[in-house]
Amino acid sequence: MMQNNSHRIGHLMSDLIRPQIKALSAYHVADAGKMIKLDAMENPYHLPDELIAQWLQKISRAELNRYPDPHASELRDKLRAYMQVPEGQTLILGNGSDELIQIMAMTVAQPGRVILAPEPGFVMYKMIATFVGMDYVGVPLRDDFSLDLPAMLAAIKQHQPALLFLAYPNNPTANLFDEKAMLEIIQASKGLVIVDEAYHPFAGESFMSRLGQFENLLVMRTVSKMGLAGLRLGLLAGSPKWINEFDKVRLPYNINVLTQISAVFALENAGVFEAQATAVREQRSWLLNDLNKIPDLQVYPSRANFILLRLQKADANKVFESLKQQGVLIKNLNPAGGALTQCLRVTVGTPNENSAFVAALKKSL
Ligand SMILES: *Cc1c(COP(=O)(O)O)cnc(C)c1O
Repeated sequence: MMQNNSHRIGHLMSDLIRPQIKALSAYHVADAGKMIKLDAMENPYHLPDELIAQWLQKISRAELNRYPDPHASELRDKLRAYMQVPEGQTLILGNGSDELIQIMAMTVAQPGRVILAPEPGFVMYKMIATFVGMDYVGVPLRDDFSLDLPAMLAAIKQHQPALLFLAYPNNPTANLFDEKAMLEIIQASKGLVIVDEAYHPFAGESFMSRLGQFENLLVMRTVSKMGLAGLRLGLLAGSPKWINEFDKVRLPYNINVLTQISAVFALENAGVFEAQATAVREQRSWLLNDLNKIPDLQVYPSRANFILLRLQKADANKVFESLKQQGVLIKNLNPAGGALTQCLRVTVGTPNENSAFVAALKKSL
């Protein structure tokens, strides 16, 4: 009986679960344990104690028995001002920008419709395309990870992507794409072009002020990389024409009470996060400088809070494991293969964390 049953369930499963989902493996997050955590582009700094005390005061008054404000109005107003969203443009908030990518995809998904992005790029674009039954097209970057404009334009013509993502700076390559090439891509696209500015605090460049110049341009930001990864809060800015449609797909209470209160509080104290971003940018220069002195290591330039490395002699898998043995967790990109063969990605941490990483790396090589 039992065996029959599990057999039947096995059959049911293979009928029910879409083959595209069966073929996936779940998004893998490494367990850092007590290691120095330089794998996920988190801000390494905490809030000062006096701010924690003020934050706890606000949180203590949260009404957890009530649903949150479905429009998160106060938070939206604060974000609009802080992120300098232009007049006439509007905002939708997501439970992380990951949710916003999903909302956009759900809104446009139809069999045969395409999400397009340069590769190597942010893995969620492809994963979400698969979740919603869209096709994904990745267009290879050049060897120096700059945009291959002719290839992009040809792919746009051929696939007519409904959504085209340009991460600015790009993850995992850490560079900013050429602005003129991006403008050409926006103009050549009939679908929506989303400039994903997750690393804006470290980049100093933005397409935000260009919203309104192009009907099909949207700009996405997140508070994750600036020091609030635990909150899960992203925003998408653009013409109400699009945003109002996305808003129909958004689940009504996607930004919870604690996130709304905490993010408003954070924005009222934005100077603290800006000082932390400045420290990270300084540490980035320090780290780039130190890494550049190590032989047989290709160090790519960075406009983000992480650095892409390619090992020219040593084996990335072995170095990654050796770093772990020494208590430092970074990201091994070698398993992705292709343009990322023998590549590692390290998040910029505190001065102590960065020195520990460099020392451990030298030992590993
Ligand atoms: C980290 C990252 C995000 C995800 O942001 P969340 O708001 O934490 O979901 C989006 N885009 C890029 C390019 C990223 O690297």
